[in-house]
Parts: sequence; C-alpha cells; structure tokens
Amino acid sequence: MMEQTMSNSSFHVGIIGAGTGGLCLAHGLRKAGVGVTVYERDRHPTDRLQGYRLHISPNGSRALHECLPPDVFRHFVATCGAGNDDFKFLTEKMEQLLAIETEGGSDAVDSHRSASRLVLRQVLLEGLDGMVEFGKTFTRYEETDTGEIVAHFEDGTSASADILVAADGGGSRVRRQFLPDAPRVDTGVFGIAGKFPLTEATAPQVPAELLAGPRLVMARDQSGMFVAPQRFGHGPERSADAGHGSARSGDPFAEESEDYMMWGYSGLWETADVLSKPAPSREELQDFVRERTASWHPGLQKLVELADPATVTLFDIKTSVPIDPWPTKRITLIGDAIHSMTPFRGIGANMALRDASLLAKNLAAAAHGERTPIEAIHAYEAAMIGYGFAAVRSSLKAMELAITKRGISFALTKAAYRVFDAVPPLKRWAFGGLGNA
Ligand SMILES: Cc1cc2nc3c(=O)[nH]c(=O)nc-3n(C[C@H](O)[C@H](O)[C@H](O)COP(=O)(O)OP(=O)(O)OC[C@H]3O[C@@H](n4cnc5c(N)ncnc54)[C@H](O)[C@@H]3O)c2cc1C
Repeated sequence: MMEQTMSNSSFHVGIIGAGTGGLCLAHGLRKAGVGVTVYERDRHPTDRLQGYRLHISPNGSRALHECLPPDVFRHFVATCGAGNDDFKFLTEKMEQLLAIETEGGSDAVDSHRSASRLVLRQVLLEGLDGMVEFGKTFTRYEETDTGEIVAHFEDGTSASADILVAADGGGSRVRRQFLPDAPRVDTGVFGIAGKFPLTEATAPQVPAELLAGPRLVMARDQSGMFVAPQRFGHGPERSADAGHGSARSGDPFAEESEDYMMWGYSGLWETADVLSKPAPSREELQDFVRERTASWHPGLQKLVELADPATVTLFDIKTSVPIDPWPTKRITLIGDAIHSMTPFRGIGANMALRDASLLAKNLAAAAHGERTPIEAIHAYEAAMIGYGFAAVRSSLKAMELAITKRGISFALTKAAYRVFDAVPPLKRWAFGGLGNA
C-alpha cells in the first residue's frame, strides 16, 4: 500500500486549514520539533466561524493535552464551560425519555467540557506565531519529481512541503483531488441554530430543566432540537488565567466568553420548501422555527423567541461515506476532511483532535528516525479509517433515531429509551460510552 519511502531526515509539514484539527496538529508537530506551516482561507481568525458550543470529550481533551504546550492547555481549560455531564433526551413536551450519565470527573485532562468555537480557535493560535498564514485559500496541489508537494492558493502564490495534511473540513478541496471517489453526501436533514446571552433578564425565562445541561428534543413530526447552556467557569482558575493570551483580554472575544444558551433545530428538507429559496433571511429562519415549534412546550418556544436574529443560521447536514484504505502517500487527511459526520453525537471535533494527536505522535517518531514518514502516515491511516468511519456510522445512526425514523419505529425508539431510563444497569450497558468518543 505504500507508494514510496522517504528518508528519515527532517521534513516540513504543510497543513491546509486552521480549524480544530489543523491547529492541534500544528501544536503537536511543533512540540516534537517538526517544521510546520498552516494555510487558512479565512483572512482573520474570527472570520466565518460561528461562536457555537463544542462538546469536548475526555478523548478530545487528552489529545489537546498531548499536543499543546502546558500553558496553552491551561488556557484551554480556563476558557471552557461545563461538559455534557447531565445529558437528557426529552420529548417536545419536555417529558424525559432518557438521562445519560457521562464518565469523567473533575480531572484537568480526563473530563467533559464545552468550548466556544471562536475562543477555542484563538486559544489554539497561541504559541504558533509565524506558523499560520491567513488569507491562503488552497486550490490544488502538485507532486514534484523531487518528492515535494506544492500547494497552490487562490491568490496565485504557492508553497512546498514534504508532507501535506488536509485539515480543510467537510468540503475539503485536498480530498476532492487526492481521493476523488471519497463521497460526502446529503442526509436530507437541515439545521437552524440560534443563541442568546444568559443574563439576569433572560435566565429566569428559561426553564431550570433546560439550564441544567444539554438536552436533545425528539419531536413526533421528524424534527428535533439540541439545546445547551454554555456557562463559563468564573472561579479562581479563570481569574488567575485572565491575563494570559488574547482569548479573553482581546475585545473580539469578550462577548464569546459570556454565558449563553444555544439551540439547534433540525428537520427534513423535504418538509421545508420555504428554506430552499436562495437566501432566507435570519428573521425568516427564526420565524420558520417559531412556526414549527408552535405546539411544543412553552419553555422550548421561549428559547427560539429569545434568540438574537443576528445569531440565527441555516446549515445543511452532510455525512461522509466510509471508504476502503488507499495507497499511502505523502498526502494525508484529518478530521472532517476525511470523516465528516452529522453533529448528532457531538463528536466530530473530538475525532479531529484524536487524528491530530495520533498523526503528530507518528510523525514525531519519524522525525526521530524510528520509522519512515510513509510508515508513520500508513499506521495513522490504518487506525483512523477504523475509528473515524465508526464515528461517521454512529453519528448517522443517532440522526436517524432522532429525526428520520418514522411512525412505529420512532415510537419504538422512544419506548426503548424510556425502558433504558427506568433500568439503570441496562442503560449503562447500552449507553455507557455515549459522549466519550
Ligand atoms: C451545529 C454543529 C455542532 C457541532 N457540535 C460538535 C460538538 O459539540 N462536539 C464535537 O466534537 N463536534 C461538533 N461538531 C462537529 C465539529 O464542528 C467538526 O467535526 C470539527 O469542526 C471538525 O474539525 P476540522 O478541523 O476537521 O475542520 P474545521 O474545524 O471545519 O476546520 C477546517 C478549516 O479549514 C479551512 N478551509 C476550508 N477550506 C479551505 C481551503 N480551500 N483553503 C484553506 N483553508 C480552508 C476552514 O476555513 C477552517 O478553518 C458540530 C458541528 C456542527 C455543524
């Protein structure tokens, strides 16, 4: 499967994409003394990214711990909120179907957390000065006779590397050129998300049940809503770290570090003609969710009402389709670029972090002469293809259970959840590892 061998001499890694996976990998390589440059299409760190919440599992947290310098990891911890410790499935009338206890306690590394996407990117940029180039939209690569990979960018510039890593997300252009047969397909499901600050004025309007932790609402009409409070730590750890870095001292992130409540409504495209017009406004999107949830519990309707229209966005839910291994080359992929998944298990970013830490470890071994770079990439891909596509399958399954199942099978799923909820040993057996991926 290996196309060629490379010498164990020092090599430079080019990463396309400064997202969660790309920046974590850059840190891991930097830590190991491997030369690295990240190329990002955004012109600025805060472009395009929506400030929503990311659940970081103990596995994701461990990967960050392995790759980041200790001060940046401490800053990551200090800028996080509570994790999914108290996760529940509810009906649209807010009746409990199932409560999940996640594993992992208050350990600095092995615990569940929630990160704000914008803040996380800013934290991950710390310590990478001069290694991340913004405003570089990758268009294509070419392989030279001397073994280098040359990446070309929309601005007409190009850059060479010995190894090219695609960390450019679900729409990866690197993947399209490198693995043109690796499909990413529509699921037929859309999402509309919104959020509002949790303040003295808004918090009392939100039912305590929804403030207590993340909730996945499964409605009868093939729709659902993920609801989660994002509360940042306000304890001594956060204050002690307040002067470090720019995530909270810099103005653009001050708002991102305030407590907020987010919701994400999902439904079938085939039932939402109004959304297929070219560019529905944010107000139209909010009205749409308002109408769709008009018969739901008033507490859930309140969340939609309180959302700031400026935060309301529509997104298409797609999934990768698992593929067989390919011949190993000096080009590889991490995160959504190879295994993008529905957000219904909240594990895509954790998988990207796991990829980053494993690839960094393997390439570090190559840099130290313990294996060739091709062997390092091959071992990474052999493992990643297994766990990455398993996560794709389970995330698709979770979406099917929550949204696409119809009639009797949906009723059976809800009945099964109620049974699991009533019998704790059965629940631990069935859902013990949920959220820990
Ligand atoms: C609503 C929602 C909620 C989610 N919640 C969770 C959660 O709670 N927990 C979790 O683990 N996962 C969650 N996910 C999934 C998670 O967001 C992704 O899996 C994760 O961001 C993937 O990281 P990545 O580094 O592979 O890609 P990304 O974070 O998408 O980064 C890709 C980067 O590449 C850049 N890029 C793209 N194209 C180019 C180009 N041509 N040239 C240069 N740069 C380029 C992009 O600008 C971006 O910065 C959620 C997803 C959604 C949609």
